Amino acid sequence: MSLPPALIETDADLSALNTLRLPARARSLARPATLDALEQVLATRDPSQPLHIIGEGSNLVIQNDLPGLTLCPAMDGMAKVKEDEHCVWVAAGAGVHWDDLVGWTVEQGWQGLENLSLIPGTAGAAPFQNIGAYGVELSQVLEQVTVMEVATGRVTHFAAEECAFAYRDSRFKSRDRGRYVITGIELRLNKIPACNVSYGPLKEYFGHLPSDEISPASVRERVIAVRQSKLPDPAVLANAGSFFKNPVVTASKAGQLKKSFPGLVGYEQPEGIKLAAGWLIEQAGWKGRRLGPVGMHIEQALVLVNHGGATSDDVLALASAVRRDVWERFGVSLEQEPVLLP
Ligand SMILES: Cc1cc2nc3c(=O)[nH]c(=O)nc-3n(C[C@H](O)[C@H](O)[C@H](O)COP(=O)(O)OP(=O)(O)OC[C@H]3O[C@@H](n4cnc5c(N)ncnc54)[C@H](O)[C@@H]3O)c2cc1C
Repeated sequence: MSLPPALIETDADLSALNTLRLPARARSLARPATLDALEQVLATRDPSQPLHIIGEGSNLVIQNDLPGLTLCPAMDGMAKVKEDEHCVWVAAGAGVHWDDLVGWTVEQGWQGLENLSLIPGTAGAAPFQNIGAYGVELSQVLEQVTVMEVATGRVTHFAAEECAFAYRDSRFKSRDRGRYVITGIELRLNKIPACNVSYGPLKEYFGHLPSDEISPASVRERVIAVRQSKLPDPAVLANAGSFFKNPVVTASKAGQLKKSFPGLVGYEQPEGIKLAAGWLIEQAGWKGRRLGPVGMHIEQALVLVNHGGATSDDVLALASAVRRDVWERFGVSLEQEPVLLP
């Protein structure tokens, strides 16, 4: 099988394909927009060379140029697949911009995605780390994920229960890393809104209203306003969102910390107490502080920003300094959220 030459770009510039704006190039870059094109790309690649999958690069630290093949799945389209009295099922291609999908479903009056408004990236990347915000995770609305197996080109569907979803985690990020290309997702949304406004800023804003007066559109509007006031727009100030996961510690560890640091921010979870990583970073003195061309954001200490001209070495040096200082002060280990490539 020979590929149409336009399908593969060689020595492609990735600096606009990662929101930290790190300089990097891909040896070969393919943007298959159909299952057939993806199958063809996979069938003709050299399996001894590495394969990288990227979406919009909003959760990546590209450390070096990417050898082998870089795939940017570009399957388009979103549509209602079926409905019953209470729910609609919606399908989207992996290349759909996530917030276009959220915006479209909210416009239809369907409820389920509004809390996940304005998260950058593609629909195909959303299951990879089980995106979440404002008390909602993708896993709560996901019906199934369609994937193509890299080694065989076989298309498979995984129901949500088969995806091993956890906090910022899934089988695609852990045990099956690199095994599948996600080509599309299907979501189940409510026709009769039951918005979740239990989380911090939404509770403050909507808490006094009866639930039947809270629409998905009003929640989306609020989430967008809060996000825009708190998070730097990567188009203006390069960043990859939260740079660390919120660490989960045992109740006894949280209790000890609370004695020494009464302001400690933590939320009870089934697996322990989830601490606010941003608070730990701020207390460790890193909020608004720079190290060369990178720094922790002045408003949101959890977000590592590139003030211009940074390399991956700058990013990783800052991340390691922050991690060290948080460890020394609190004995809590921070785990990086963005994926390191290659
Ligand atoms: C300002 C800002 C705010 C953010 N806020 C949030 C937030 O509130 N909640 C949250 O959860 N995340 C947040 N993020 C992180 C990011 O938006 C999400 O992780 C998003 O899903 C990444 O999508 P992407 O298309 O950019 O993926 P990329 O960053 O390109 O890739 C991320 C990972 O997904 C894998 N991947 C991508 N596409 C596919 C595919 N089709 N098949 C298989 N694997 C794939 C890649 O291999 C990579 O390992 C934020 C990021 C920024 C910059």
